[in-house]
Amino acid sequence: MRVIFLGAPGTGKGTQAVWLSEKFAIPQISTGDILRKAVAEGTELGKAADAIMKSGGLVSDELIVALVRERLEQPDCRPGFILDGFPRTIAQGESLDLMLGREKAIQSVLFFEVSEAEIVTRLTSRRTCSGCARNYNMISDPPPASGLCDSCGGRIIQRPDDSEETVRKRLQVYEEKTAPLKEFYNEQKKLYILRAEQPVERVREELVTLLSGL
Ligand code: AMP
Repeated sequence: MRVIFLGAPGTGKGTQAVWLSEKFAIPQISTGDILRKAVAEGTELGKAADAIMKSGGLVSDELIVALVRERLEQPDCRPGFILDGFPRTIAQGESLDLMLGREKAIQSVLFFEVSEAEIVTRLTSRRTCSGCARNYNMISDPPPASGLCDSCGGRIIQRPDDSEETVRKRLQVYEEKTAPLKEFYNEQKKLYILRAEQPVERVREELVTLLSGL
């Protein structure tokens, strides 16, 4: 299975990708998670990405494409993969097509559809474990009172880019740069719409139904 989860930030792509990755034993490749790790480790990539991420902008296509190329060459990607947060521009989508060629082309692109108002609520109430990247939500899934993650004991924080101002900027960037990918994949006849504003369990069911029908 080689799939892309496409959609604005905060539409639940990460949550569903983690689950699907475990179910099918294929890696979830989140460029956001890879970049946050690089920032935390202070690598060259992390230094280049830090300020851009905090401002809600996009890291350069060149850096991201190189990072994804390297990741997809790892042996664990052979049986398939879920791309979460990549591609985010038409140029990244075109590079991915070239990288995979015909034989290993993406099979389907699931578009996570959620209204803008709901996205803003979800993102500004999101809290994230600084250790394992697990997400909590102050409204629907509050973190433990200790402020430490149930899964790994890491410290739970609000991502700097989940502040309301940065969320609005990220949504603007999404509309401008990422939304055109919907048409890009629609033309390739690979696009499927997922009603992602429903509760997590329902989205999961819809996802499984969709994937099993492909
Ligand atoms: P995410 O966790 O997917 O919301 O990504 C967090 C931030 O990482 C984004 O706001 C961008 O600054 C950066 N980022 C993640 N993926 C990409 C990508 N494919 N292209 C450019 N920047 C990215």
